Amino acid sequence: MHEMAITQSVVDAVCEHAEGRRVHAVTVEVGALCAVVPDAMRFCFEVATETTVAEDAELILVEIPGVAACRTCGAEFRLPDPILLCPCGSADVEIRSGRELRIRSMEVSEACAQPAAAATTPPR
Ligand SMILES: [Zn+2]
Repeated sequence: MHEMAITQSVVDAVCEHAEGRRVHAVTVEVGALCAVVPDAMRFCFEVATETTVAEDAELILVEIPGVAACRTCGAEFRLPDPILLCPCGSADVEIRSGRELRIRSMEVSEACAQPAAAATTPPR
């Protein structure tokens, strides 16, 4: 199960960017070719966020379909699994998408009440 290592790096990045603020939700794009099991990742997320600012945050997984282009016939086709084979029979294919694993967005709130003026200060 490689979900734990992947999830841990996601949680590390989330906690770093949260800068002490409470994290409520994290949206992660997962390519279909990453072979990540969503349920396993949700479980790992729960474990990895324990005692962090992202504890009890919701994990939203957005699956990015695998797409490849064939160098032999030029066709672009969907890859339902990591087996790289064009319908024409060629294995000379280039992956266009489906290997992504990135944080698309996260929802945070201030850890403690800030004066209203502080919220309008533009980021440096
Ligand atoms: Zn082909």
